[in-house]
Amino acid sequence: MGAGDTKARHSPSRLMTNHLFSLIRDGVPDPAKTVIETPEGRRYAYADLIARAGAYAAALRAAGVAPGDRVAVQVEKSPEVIFLYLGVVRAGAVFLPLNTAYTPAEIGYFLGDAEPTVFVCDPGRREALAEAAAGVRTIWTLDGAGGGSAAEAADQQDGDVADVPRGPEDLAAILYTSGTTGRSKGAMLTHDNLASNARTLVDTWRFTADDVLIHALPVFHTHGLFVATNTVLASGGSMLFLPRLDPKLILSLMPRASVLMGVPTFYTRLLKEPGLTPEAATGMRLFVSGSAPLLAETHREWQARTGHAILERYGMTETNMSTSNPYDGDRVAGTVGFPLPGVSLRVVDPEGGRVLGPDTVGMIEVKGRNVFQGYWRMPEKTAAEFRADGFFITGDLGKIDGRGYVHIVGRGKDLIISGGFNVYPKEVETEIDALPGVVESAVIGLAHPDFGEAVTAVVVGGPGCPDEAGVQAALENRLARFKCPKRVLFVDELPRNTMGKVQKNLLREAHAGLYRD
Ligand code: AMP
Repeated sequence: MGAGDTKARHSPSRLMTNHLFSLIRDGVPDPAKTVIETPEGRRYAYADLIARAGAYAAALRAAGVAPGDRVAVQVEKSPEVIFLYLGVVRAGAVFLPLNTAYTPAEIGYFLGDAEPTVFVCDPGRREALAEAAAGVRTIWTLDGAGGGSAAEAADQQDGDVADVPRGPEDLAAILYTSGTTGRSKGAMLTHDNLASNARTLVDTWRFTADDVLIHALPVFHTHGLFVATNTVLASGGSMLFLPRLDPKLILSLMPRASVLMGVPTFYTRLLKEPGLTPEAATGMRLFVSGSAPLLAETHREWQARTGHAILERYGMTETNMSTSNPYDGDRVAGTVGFPLPGVSLRVVDPEGGRVLGPDTVGMIEVKGRNVFQGYWRMPEKTAAEFRADGFFITGDLGKIDGRGYVHIVGRGKDLIISGGFNVYPKEVETEIDALPGVVESAVIGLAHPDFGEAVTAVVVGGPGCPDEAGVQAALENRLARFKCPKRVLFVDELPRNTMGKVQKNLLREAHAGLYRD
């Protein structure tokens, strides 16, 4: 579990194949079949994907990339990024995608920490990143249209190359976590972590070569890169590859597609489109949501508008996917369903680690082939977040109900302790969101001289929304006094990151001094 030692541990054997890439190669239904199509009508067949990935693998090896080396990538989304990702895997190296929003200072930290052999960036940022990338041996560029020195390096290679053998335990990727508390950590994911999860999702969500996924997620994050892309590739299906969320474009593509995967924002934005009707969704068989909690109201509205129950699932960078609502059976709004096959999930008392019974809120812990190998070069952090019996402490609070459905109550670090009592923000948010005129809310704890932390609500109000006193009065009879917000603040919208997660840390910072005077 130590960081950075995988290269030494695994000497490639001639008999071995490339574990993750073999999953994709072996599942190709017909090399001429389209795997990726862009809105401009560019089409790539499986044969193109394999050859282009081979050309990248050859170019990387020519640039001195050895098995186990990292290849860091901060570029705009395009099909070429997928070919590059698979090229890195075929070269036996470790793919390290970086959020396009990261600043040069942040990139400097990641490159210093991960020590990649090659760094690929957008040509427009090449100069701004020069200092941050000064220690990297080779710097290539790749733009949103798929052009740049990385693509040129691949153009010069023959794509018909042998894969570098890699076993299930070898690293395939490092994904840095969002790092809202402290330094961002690099989650080390093996070939088997990714391949086993892709297989499980193909089975659970009934993917086949006939599926066409609308892919509008970023590809620097586990959701767009692994959950969406690997699942499609492992099933021999295809993707309509959009550069970003564009609700009108998604609606116009639905008649040609069968599955949409998105963060909750996808669904709230699509619900604002008058064209979203049962007819528009006729050919679709599945809508999946994750990465942030889907409001029960969004679930209900979607069902009323399209006739489809959104399937909500739960996972994280470190664990890939851990739970899913059932394909057949009740997809229960406000829950993330059951542990996936092969995943053990338990809820424990965060202090003592004792396993808790049904309907009792505690820390969610997960174990299985889906769970990562630890944080890159952070052995202490890794050790602190695993139990002795191998369970990973997710940092998410939740419960398992009497029917076995898992509920996420929020991040452990968002728990509010007011006057010595635990307050779960989700419970308060659910009550506030149910008030007429409230669009949504975020409940946070702010430093308070008497209570330690004071429960504080940040509310987005629509027409008919009560004012501060009105919200407080409405909650008085519904929640214990210590759970009721001491203050209710109104905003036009909640701060969200690209994955649709409400950034409570920003709200806490913005209102840190609220109770100081
Ligand atoms: P990331 O590592 O960026 O994928 O973030 C993972 C975190 O997102 C989890 O630890 C949860 O806090 C949250 N998350 C993911 N899926 C859900 C979901 N369906 N409902 C609530 N929270 C979720």
